[in-house]
Amino acid sequence: MTLSELRRRLADGGIEDADVEARLLFCRVTGLPPHRLIGGDPACDDPALNALLEKRLSREPLAYLLGEADFFRETYRIAPGVLIPRADTERLVEEAIARIPRGARICDLCCGSGCIGISTLANRPDLSCVSVDLSPEAVALTRENAERNGVSDRLSAVCADLFALPSEISRFDALLCNPPYIARGVIPTLSPEVLREPEAALDGGDDGLDFYREIARRLPDLLKPNGLALLEIGYDQEGAVSALFRAVGASPTVLPDYGGNPRVAILSRP
Ligand code: GLN
Repeated sequence: MTLSELRRRLADGGIEDADVEARLLFCRVTGLPPHRLIGGDPACDDPALNALLEKRLSREPLAYLLGEADFFRETYRIAPGVLIPRADTERLVEEAIARIPRGARICDLCCGSGCIGISTLANRPDLSCVSVDLSPEAVALTRENAERNGVSDRLSAVCADLFALPSEISRFDALLCNPPYIARGVIPTLSPEVLREPEAALDGGDDGLDFYREIARRLPDLLKPNGLALLEIGYDQEGAVSALFRAVGASPTVLPDYGGNPRVAILSRP
């Protein structure tokens, strides 16, 4: 199959970014660097390319097929057990890097691939992080990604449930969290690719707010006084999440992502 055939088959299968995806899949199988594809139409007869094409046409997300994804300034190993890092979440990391006080001990709750805590540490050599996830697979990937991005000496990954946190997961200077926040009833309407991601990483309960409620309730344990929380929220959750935190005495500020949707809630522990 040639690169242009691969591109056409992806496009015919309804894949939106067929050009970019064809190049990435082609390079993955052939080992060619991306610049070698410019201006030519190379062919590849490795059956692995056809196998990846079939999986992609069945709506397996590209990041699972490539086994990695770029996020912020880093690259992460990604596997089907974790949520694929989203560009929208880079806003949270930018704000974390700019706002967290020097020398802070931070927590990345519901860490998934580990990308939020790891990209923050990779760009702030003075910080250390405890990354927490319920899924043992996510914890293992976070450790691997911390190693890969050179921050494993400052990060520990712990397997724990936010709704039953051990007492040592407490008293941080800053809390970073992209919890599952999709309202349960909305999940069946998500794209076929998103439906291949772990439901536990998406399902925020009946109204999508279960994890924010628990974080608001636990704020006095999770953070030191005046400690900072940066939380990703859904595009339509600014009012509801702000109200939850105002009810425990915090005053959240919500910043938009680059698509203009409210995305990052920032607050201090009262
Ligand atoms: N932003 C993700 C999506 O669009 C949801 C991630 C989450 O629930 N934290 O599917």
